[in-house]
Amino acid sequence: MKSIYFKFVLTYTIIIAVGFLIFGTVLNNLTENYFISQKQTQLVREAEKIATGLALWYITGFLEQDRLRFEIRFLRDYLNASILLINKNANVILNSDEQVYIDDFNLRKIRDKVFEGEIAVKKLLIGDIIKREYLVIGYPVVINNHIISGLLLITSTDEIRQTLKMYNRIIWLVTLFEVLVVLIITYALTQRIITPIKKLAQASRRIAEGDFSQKIPIPNNSDDEISELISSFNYMTEKLENLEMMRKSFISNVSHELRSPLTSIRGFVEGILDRTIPDDKRDFYLTLVKEEVIKLNNLINQLLELSRLEWGKINVNLSEFKIYSVIAEELIKFEKRIEEKEIDVSLQVDEELVVKADRDLISRVIHNLLDNAIKYNKVGGKIYIYSEVVNGKAYITIQDTGIGIPEKLQKLIWERFYKVDESRSLENGVGLGLSIVKEIIKLHKQNIWVESEEGVGSKFTFTLDLK
Ligand code: ADP
Repeated sequence: MKSIYFKFVLTYTIIIAVGFLIFGTVLNNLTENYFISQKQTQLVREAEKIATGLALWYITGFLEQDRLRFEIRFLRDYLNASILLINKNANVILNSDEQVYIDDFNLRKIRDKVFEGEIAVKKLLIGDIIKREYLVIGYPVVINNHIISGLLLITSTDEIRQTLKMYNRIIWLVTLFEVLVVLIITYALTQRIITPIKKLAQASRRIAEGDFSQKIPIPNNSDDEISELISSFNYMTEKLENLEMMRKSFISNVSHELRSPLTSIRGFVEGILDRTIPDDKRDFYLTLVKEEVIKLNNLINQLLELSRLEWGKINVNLSEFKIYSVIAEELIKFEKRIEEKEIDVSLQVDEELVVKADRDLISRVIHNLLDNAIKYNKVGGKIYIYSEVVNGKAYITIQDTGIGIPEKLQKLIWERFYKVDESRSLENGVGLGLSIVKEIIKLHKQNIWVESEEGVGSKFTFTLDLK
């Protein structure tokens, strides 16, 4: 496995090396051009002076071979450049350095230019065995408007090359140093990344094996992406742990809810069969058996409904309908129980208020909320049902004057099988009604909440989209 450290170092080294290569090449070219053009200007200036001097000596009759030879050698040492004089036929008539030899072809080219009155500038490789680069300047020697000779100044570019070599060496040293620094910094940086990643990998494996107690400490004083990842991971672990707990408690709740009616049914049926229950009480106990069977049936139906809602197997068929009509229909279903409990219902819903939702699902919500409002109400209590429209949304409220829910427990009532008080869960509630309500409202991307005071009553409000 190639580590992150290796990949980082490789990438950075390549970037630095390429960067310095480009930088070095550009710098090399620029410096070379600069030095050569400097040298060239200097040589042209000197050539001009010498050519003028030569012309002057010629006119004044001062020019004489030995003297010229002497002067030219002197200038050669002074300028550090060989000096040549050529004639119209490109023959060398004077040379300060016998070793410096320009081949005929190039000599003729320079001659052509110089005898046209121009300054020739050329870079030539000179030397028999080891060829070295030379800069050659050709300058016309003019007497009485006639070009009588070509003056050639030849100097090696070695000096410039040496300087460039030194520059290159410095660039390479800096590159090497940079790579070293990168190695160290990357090591420190990647350690910061790798250590938590390794911990995350180990913890994930343990979670997969069912150990949800994994928590990874966030490094001190850090709020970077790694810390974010760790805190998301810890959050995920916490959620998984909750989920696992919920799964376990769900199974135990289901078993419990199934077991008690089944135990009753078994007891009654056995009593009837072995005649412990006398014949005249048979109908009574069979009615109890029937009630238990209905209870079981309800429980299974609610469980199925909840599971379908949670698995998204229920399609939300949106339609526009009057919410009043749904509430009225549901109230009729509860008429008998409302009368039995002598509850007074106040219905203040706008009869014309049209909402956009799944009609069947919303009737289920109202059904469950009304069921609770009756179930947990006191005899002779009240139920207020009203609607409001705020910021383009319908707010539907069902309020009762029942036993209320303690504040601390209000957020728990939406959980599956949660009952505020087992003994209070009259009339066979199993604790699934509000979970179903919550799921339906969630499917509609709407909200539901409760406001309640113990002993005073509860108020459930949910929102719906208008048409
Ligand atoms: P259940 O079938 O037990 O009524 P729900 O999911 O409908 O289950 O409600 C969960 C719990 O919330 C109930 O057991 C009850 O304790 C509490 N609760 C729900 N509605 C009301 C209400 N209107 N007044 C008082 N308590 C309520």
